[in-house]
Amino acid sequence: MRCILIILDGIGDRGHTCFEGKTPLQMAYTPNLDYLSSVGMNGLYHSLMQGIPMSSETAHFLIFGYEMEEFPGRGYIEAIGNGIPVQEREVAVLCHICCVEHKNDNLILTWGRPEIAYEEAKELKRAIESFETNKIKIHLIPANGIDGFLILSGEVTDTITDSDPIYEGKAVMEIMPTGQKKIPSSSRKTSAILNKYLIWCYQTLSNHQINQNRLASNFPPVNTLVTQRAGKRKNLTPFNEKWGLRGLSISSGAIYWGLCNELGMDVTKVKDTDNIEEDLKYRLRLAKDAHDYDFIHVHTKMPDEAGHTKNPWYKKEVIEAVDRAMSVAVDELITDREALLVITADHSTASSGTMIHTGETVPLTMVGKYVRKDSIHAFDEISCATGGLGMVRGKELMHLILNFLDRAKMQGLMDTPVDQPYYPGKYKPLRL
Ligand SMILES: [Zn+2]
Repeated sequence: MRCILIILDGIGDRGHTCFEGKTPLQMAYTPNLDYLSSVGMNGLYHSLMQGIPMSSETAHFLIFGYEMEEFPGRGYIEAIGNGIPVQEREVAVLCHICCVEHKNDNLILTWGRPEIAYEEAKELKRAIESFETNKIKIHLIPANGIDGFLILSGEVTDTITDSDPIYEGKAVMEIMPTGQKKIPSSSRKTSAILNKYLIWCYQTLSNHQINQNRLASNFPPVNTLVTQRAGKRKNLTPFNEKWGLRGLSISSGAIYWGLCNELGMDVTKVKDTDNIEEDLKYRLRLAKDAHDYDFIHVHTKMPDEAGHTKNPWYKKEVIEAVDRAMSVAVDELITDREALLVITADHSTASSGTMIHTGETVPLTMVGKYVRKDSIHAFDEISCATGGLGMVRGKELMHLILNFLDRAKMQGLMDTPVDQPYYPGKYKPLRL
């Protein structure tokens, strides 16, 4: 059997006053998702712990059965996903240029993601592309628009805080070593050098001709650089070795490509167009035909992006387009008796409030020949709560997948020196 795991990114939401306390998923017309829940086993899922708003990359990492402590950091996986080589000991940090105002010796964020012509953004980034002090090198690799990656080399570490305050009106933050006990000198050094670099960026960009011109035309200067989510390579057990499944990801974002690549899964890169329904149908058909794999991750970012608009009506519409695409799952995927279909999300993205993502659970449905069928008939955050799976957390999902693929190992059996969760493992045959 093989598993097709469909992640409807950020589909979970909050109750909204305009929907009389219901979520966009509860309000949306979703006959296909509802049908799938009615022939399957349902529950709720959280990749870590209820209430914790997860980022997509950490949630995916936990969904794939890894531990939070092993996470390499988004800066690293996004750089890798964009094809940027990051060496073993280097650190990659997400960064972007933005607008700040100098006030009482602080830099107050006034425009987090400013509009600026492509060529001008490129030139500003070029002005701050390299910095070296104390045998630590910082190199800025430009990405789209105002974004980029800092690649740090020398005695550096990723155990440092961010400088991006995200919310406008807040001061740019001093970068500090993370943790409170036994702070390694490399963390202190990395933080100190990055802080120096940020101040240099502010000075260099403030004096740049492009910003002088912007000021003259009454546009705020794009005069600083902020950083987020440092990361570096970690030694991870490949997905196939960990779960005994050959993995494939069908996804459209650099963080999924980078993460799956790091886990040794294959990746089919797809593009997002403005046709949500056709994009997802295409991915589901790719999954249907991917018979060389026993674990296929199919991803759509669209419900998450709709949530970020903070418009619950729009999110409801996007969910309805996603549901139309799910007709492929009804007509072509669950008809395969050797397929286990799992539908869930990585986190909730509330279309109200100020948070980026939120910590509520998301619905989970499993359809396959070995699952128990419960009495749920709707795929949403409330209906699924009383389903047969109950509350599922973290890597419990991967164990359930192995169980319903009929591949899980009974506790106590030891066919290999490492106690892997699947059976049979890659054991050593006795030789005569
Ligand atoms: Zn996500």
